[in-house]
Amino acid sequence: MRQIDTIVIHCSDTPNGRWVTVDDIDVWHEQRGFRRNVTLMGRNQPRLKHIGYHFVIYAAGAVIIGRGLDEVGAHVKNHNLTSVGICMIGRDQFDLLQWAALRKNVLSLLETFPGARIVGHRDLSPDLNGNGVIEQVEHIKKCPCFDVSAWLAGNMQPLDGHIFNEVA
Ligand SMILES: [Zn+2]
Repeated sequence: MRQIDTIVIHCSDTPNGRWVTVDDIDVWHEQRGFRRNVTLMGRNQPRLKHIGYHFVIYAAGAVIIGRGLDEVGAHVKNHNLTSVGICMIGRDQFDLLQWAALRKNVLSLLETFPGARIVGHRDLSPDLNGNGVIEQVEHIKKCPCFDVSAWLAGNMQPLDGHIFNEVA
């Protein structure tokens, strides 16, 4: 197993409540030129040749594997080698089951990788090396559109203002 010291949370940046799947993400990541290592992908979603995240959390809380943990992800510039990427489907509001699944997913990863830090994509500057290359500036600046440190401080409970409610 590769060394993992960071858990990075993302959002799909798609309209809240829209159904989006790992197959959709695979297409987007193909367009961005991401490609999985065929040898390492093994039996983890072999039909998905491009998806960059390790986990995707759907509305209603299903957690779908993208890449296996042994595979280096493609989700956060300069931090892929030692991180795991989790993507919440939605823009800035997620339903209660999604929030619960995120909590469970992160706690489970912490059991496997004790001491790993947990951050949002936006907490990791894409341009720490100063090379001037910043992709999808607006997306990276906001992703995952909630404050991960506040979520951690609140014992990983759903954050006010970020709870999707179908009937609202
Ligand atoms: Zn992101």
